Amino acid sequence: MGPSHAACGAAAWVALTADYTLQVSGYSVPVGFGVLPVGDAGVVTGALICAGAALLPDIDHPSGTVARSLPPFSGWLARIVARLSGGHRRGTHSVIGLLVFTLLAWLSQNAALPVGDGLRWLAESIGDDSAPAVVAALPGQVWPLAAVLSVLMIAFAVKVLAFIPDQISHANWLVAIGLGIVVATNPPEHPWWFVIAVALGCAVHMIGDMVTTQGIHLLWPLRPRLPVPSTFYRGRSFVRFPVLGKAGSGMELAVLTPISVYAVLGLACALAAWGGVTMT
Ligand SMILES: [Zn+2]
Repeated sequence: MGPSHAACGAAAWVALTADYTLQVSGYSVPVGFGVLPVGDAGVVTGALICAGAALLPDIDHPSGTVARSLPPFSGWLARIVARLSGGHRRGTHSVIGLLVFTLLAWLSQNAALPVGDGLRWLAESIGDDSAPAVVAALPGQVWPLAAVLSVLMIAFAVKVLAFIPDQISHANWLVAIGLGIVVATNPPEHPWWFVIAVALGCAVHMIGDMVTTQGIHLLWPLRPRLPVPSTFYRGRSFVRFPVLGKAGSGMELAVLTPISVYAVLGLACALAAWGGVTMT
């Protein structure tokens, strides 16, 4: 389910933020709803974060793909999260889990360290005119928590979309940090973009798991008795609307192919506009 979650996360971000129109044999076809204006670069960089966030709930699965994306760090994290969240498809796939991930994103976008500003203030206050040029070039503020979270989510997306084998998964560190710098230097132009991308990605993941036969423990840690047939509510825990059947079914492919094509199309439009090609 990894690649499909990432594709759905990217597609959701494109739908929310892209504002392009394609001319197809005389008809104007809008590519996105443009509800959240983030700029051309922001469509691309936000899609990367949203795709990664759409894999975040599966950090509760120590032998899963995302747990193997940034060895050994992601593996340790997965074991801790699995312990705290009661096992796979429980805490991290619940309403509480969604709120925790969103809160974490909000905290990390607010937890700034005044690295450059602080050093420059220090240099000025001790009257040192010979402060090295590197101090002048430092960014005023850095967001260490957001950086760690971003690199982690980008690593998830790269791992599942690029199908990097475990033998060379240490290369994932380099790719994720490199792309993290691209995101940090071309962030979406909206003050809430990070929180929205993380919340949207997690919600997309939960919906994606909810339409499979296994379902998700939506009300974790509660296990209420509900007057709902077991088709939709399994073992007083797992909520499901199994329209897609088992993972890897033909039905799943029929839904995922157009979603993936849409994401690629939207990103191609955004990349072209970002690169200076005018879209009509
Ligand atoms: Zn999941």
